[in-house]
Amino acid sequence: MADVALITGGSRGIGAATAHKLAAAGFAICVSYRTDRAAADSVVAALQATNARAVAVQADVSDPDQVEALFNRCDAELGTLSALINNAGMVGDKARLEDMSAARLERMFAVNSLGTLFCCQAAIRRMAARHGGRGGSIVNVSSVASRIGSPAEYVDYAASKGAVDTLTLGLAKELATERVRVNAVRPGIIDTDIHASGGQPDRAERLSPLIPMQRPGIADEVASAIEWLVSAAASYTTGAILDVSGGR
Ligand code: NAP
Repeated sequence: MADVALITGGSRGIGAATAHKLAAAGFAICVSYRTDRAAADSVVAALQATNARAVAVQADVSDPDQVEALFNRCDAELGTLSALINNAGMVGDKARLEDMSAARLERMFAVNSLGTLFCCQAAIRRMAARHGGRGGSIVNVSSVASRIGSPAEYVDYAASKGAVDTLTLGLAKELATERVRVNAVRPGIIDTDIHASGGQPDRAERLSPLIPMQRPGIADEVASAIEWLVSAAASYTTGAILDVSGGR
């Protein structure tokens, strides 16, 4: 039976690139999405065309009931979970903190921080030795925003990713003897649709001069780091936060 990886927000961008990498490494893949079923179905069709087992499941990670239903579908359709990639995330429009609505702040933390916590809970119950699990690996997708802070752009997003970093450090220690490794990647500016979703479609190109390598990254470059953290090659690595940021 193949290893099973669940990738939240696997329908495009970094999540879709990770789905392809992990499928090529032999994982059966569950991609989740929130709204764009056609995009998720097309990722699954592309994976199946390479003979990988794959399924797409709709779920909003900010809702713990939908998260539980997502993991149950993954169990039922693909089998025992061995890897969780907490990739689903969102940004808001460029704004100063005092101009952000309470609803925006609540949504930012509900998706980026609480969503990651809910998915970790569901994965632990399936993978940790104390629950009879066979072990596994969690990779959280944070952001260099967590250490830069994203002033006058989106400090709410940066703070929500700071929570992801701290969760990674604590949970790695909490699960260190439970056969579950917990790590994070911290991407810099990566050329995906997320910038357009925050009202700045030209952000990756515009901010390139701020990047020591003078170019945005591509989703595949982040997926490679995630693939390594999931793999047995990283068997002694837990609690690591790996910057994939062109030196930023
Ligand atoms: P993206 O292209 O905007 O894709 C986001 C994915 O997350 C989509 O599959 C989307 O599904 C899903 N999603 C959004 N909200 C969700 C929710 N509430 N519940 C479930 N799924 C949800 O983003 P990306 O650039 O690949 O980013 C992936 C991760 O990397 C995010 O956590 C992001 O914060 C992080 N990151 C990105 C960059 C960058 O420059 N691109 C830099 C640092 C960190 P639908 O399309 O169906 O809504």
